[in-house]
Amino acid sequence: MSTTTSEKHGFQAEIQQLLDLVVHSLYTDREIFLRELVSNASDAMEKLRHLESTEKDIQDSGLPLEVTISADQEAGTLTIQDRGIGMTREELVENLGTIAHSGTKAFLQSMKESGSTPAGMIGQFGVGFYSAFMVADEVQVFTRSWRKDGEGWVWISDGKTGYEMESAEGLERGTKIVLKLKEDQKEYAEEYRIKHLVETYSNFVGFPVMVDGKRV
Ligand code: ADP
Ligand code: MG
Repeated sequence: MSTTTSEKHGFQAEIQQLLDLVVHSLYTDREIFLRELVSNASDAMEKLRHLESTEKDIQDSGLPLEVTISADQEAGTLTIQDRGIGMTREELVENLGTIAHSGTKAFLQSMKESGSTPAGMIGQFGVGFYSAFMVADEVQVFTRSWRKDGEGWVWISDGKTGYEMESAEGLERGTKIVLKLKEDQKEYAEEYRIKHLVETYSNFVGFPVMVDGKRV
């Protein structure tokens, strides 16, 4: 057995500000979080598809490229899983919390100027991932990179001050995002609601999207 210890990281100041706004100032259109997560899943699989033409050694190369969404009403969780490129430890740290992209600044600026940026705009600033915190009070990201030398990781955050990370065993290539839905956002654990959102916002996605085992 490996002895993994969980590492604690603080969010960069700008990301913390952004999260604070996402959680406390964006009330309408919260449902767009699903479009953002499905779009990230699709991007990751698009990248994998490109890699397949140049790389011979891809982790779990036989996996079908699809997005799988499943809900657990009892637990109040919603899970979005893809078979894309996944992330290494370094990529997790960079992409989800430490290095603010220029979009973070632009989003903060826009919020300051207009007082209200529609939630639907968040993806255009390149910070769509954080929209998950509009509906979840905890987000877990399980991920394993396409690179064969790496191991899997889990990133966990309540979207407040930082995140914890530790290595995770038994993961297949790709990324699985588990949202622990807020008490007043449990509607997103209902199958008909999820299906409707996928039909409304994600019909352009170039990969199959499965909801509770059936293709939407
Ligand atoms: P954007 O998609 O515009 O780059 P996001 O905030 O949605 O901005 O995502 C930030 C970054 O996190 C992405 O660019 C990508 O590198 C990484 N990421 C997010 N979701 C996934 C995923 N499902 N698989 C792999 N990488 C991901
Ligand atoms: Mg995105």
